[in-house]
Amino acid sequence: MGLRPNLLTRRVAGVALTTLALLLSTAAVGVVPAASASSAAPGGACSGPAGSQANARAKPGAAALHEPNELTAKQVRERDADLAAALRERANYRAGAGATTLATVTIPVVVHVIQENSTRAGGNIPDSLITSQISVLNQAYAGGTGGATTAFAFRLDKINRVTNTSWYPIVDGSSAERSMKSSLRVGGKNTLNIYLGELSDDLLGWATFPQRNLSSMDGVVVLNESLPGGTATNYNQGDTGTHEIGHWLNLYHTFQGGCGGSGDGVSDTPAEASPAYQCPTGRNTCSATGLDPITNFMDYTYDSCMYQFTTGQASRMLTAWNAYRAA
Ligand SMILES: [Zn+2]
Repeated sequence: MGLRPNLLTRRVAGVALTTLALLLSTAAVGVVPAASASSAAPGGACSGPAGSQANARAKPGAAALHEPNELTAKQVRERDADLAAALRERANYRAGAGATTLATVTIPVVVHVIQENSTRAGGNIPDSLITSQISVLNQAYAGGTGGATTAFAFRLDKINRVTNTSWYPIVDGSSAERSMKSSLRVGGKNTLNIYLGELSDDLLGWATFPQRNLSSMDGVVVLNESLPGGTATNYNQGDTGTHEIGHWLNLYHTFQGGCGGSGDGVSDTPAEASPAYQCPTGRNTCSATGLDPITNFMDYTYDSCMYQFTTGQASRMLTAWNAYRAA
């Protein structure tokens, strides 16, 4: 069930199959509106039969054809309404006393390494991969790989290693995931908790969207071997982490909503009918202007293909930060 079998298969099979690309989706099958989610789907973990709101990134042949986090139009409307309400709350709060609107943000990061045992296969990945992941995040969010500069930087505060066979692999939407996060999550709304492990259903990762009330589910789950230098072929340059954190900062997939409507809510990411895998240069699935944004971190292409956020995405993330996560 975990990723590993598939990864091995793919690796052996060679590039052609690769398609396994991760589906980074956000899907949430039964997503719960942020406002009413409360205990139900606290963080939005991706998927889950129970429906949460996370965003998962999966590989193409994955058992879960849809990531848990792809959102329906209704879920998008609910999230957008919640953001507007959160912004109004903040505005009132500022008028009264104080929350500052931030222009730059350094996010404290706590990484929980979930292990089955002390072997690499059992989840014991070296610290060096984690520090490399933080570097990849800082480059990506600073526009260092060719995209827009965002307001965000990341500071690794702690690596917390936990051996617990009942939490490994991490199963999206499971009671074990809830137990794990309830036990381990630390910090306030501004603290990024990252959980690393082998994952269920061929997923590369999933994340929770921001919510007004901090949930113990808040955070990002990432396949341990997707870190830079890991063994997840085609997905081992650290961009799963970059993608999932994009969701944690309120970004949708570039293919959200397909060709119509408001899409991903960002004006400078051309509409895209469906997820792109591998690196299909020149792909153009919608009649609207612009080729599909296959190089965007919020699509599902290979790590080697994606390298940018747009100015509109940077703005959306900062707005959400100020609405939901800023102190
Ligand atoms: Zn995603």
